[in-house]
Amino acid sequence: MTEDGATVVAAVEAVAERIEAERDHLTELDSAIGDADHGGNMARGWAEAAAAASDLDDPDAETVAKTVGKTLMAEVGGASGPLFGGSLVFAAGDLEDGITAETAVAFAETYLEKVEDRGDARVGDQTMVDALTPAVHTFKKSIEVDDLPPIEALAKAVDAAERGVAFTVPLRARKGRASYLGWRSVGHQDPGATSTLFIAEELLAVAADRLGVDVPETDASSPTIPDEDPDEAEPEGA
Ligand code: ADP
Ligand code: MG
Repeated sequence: MTEDGATVVAAVEAVAERIEAERDHLTELDSAIGDADHGGNMARGWAEAAAAASDLDDPDAETVAKTVGKTLMAEVGGASGPLFGGSLVFAAGDLEDGITAETAVAFAETYLEKVEDRGDARVGDQTMVDALTPAVHTFKKSIEVDDLPPIEALAKAVDAAERGVAFTVPLRARKGRASYLGWRSVGHQDPGATSTLFIAEELLAVAADRLGVDVPETDASSPTIPDEDPDEAEPEGA
């Protein structure tokens, strides 16, 4: 197995474990504005995905990611299965040359694009897109503009996703089952945005572990995301 292939397998195992640990939490969120299946769907899907990934013979990163995507599509079901799984199948192609800062950004962008294509949701619709968009944008900007090490960029992306999850609470759902509730969806945290955050947190933990570094300290409440020093950006006389 390539080293990057092994990293993706480790990431999938970590995500499966985390989602299983959060199963009841996710189900609770989905019972408030949906049909109470998100925890069960995701736990089953990721457990099957981890099993399928570890059964692969000497895989590279792209093959593992593609296998996981296909398994999620087949096993998760509901609205979120094709969104998580189908988008991953497409984005996996960007890992053809392994995992680098450049391929990771391409992967993240393709994944977001495919979720948007398939679900037709945008920021503000109270869906997983509300966590994913700030995470992907912050990751790309941190790498391409701020030139941060990828692990720091990923830590900032996780912070951004966390804010995105909080942002779903005061919104009205405009896509998926929660939208049937109309204004009654306001005041609830979106389950798919929450599971997206858990996945991002596990990717960060595994990346730090593989690099042999601590998870970089970030402060989700700090205004320094994504700029390092917002004072520098302040206009004259402000
Ligand atoms: P279902 O709604 O079919 O029961 P799940 O409970 O597994 O599926 O997933 C619900 C989550 O899917 C929501 O919390 C939301 O984040 C996400 N979701 C639903 N519809 C869409 C959509 N059109 N675009 C993006 N995300 C969506
Ligand atoms: Mg549901």
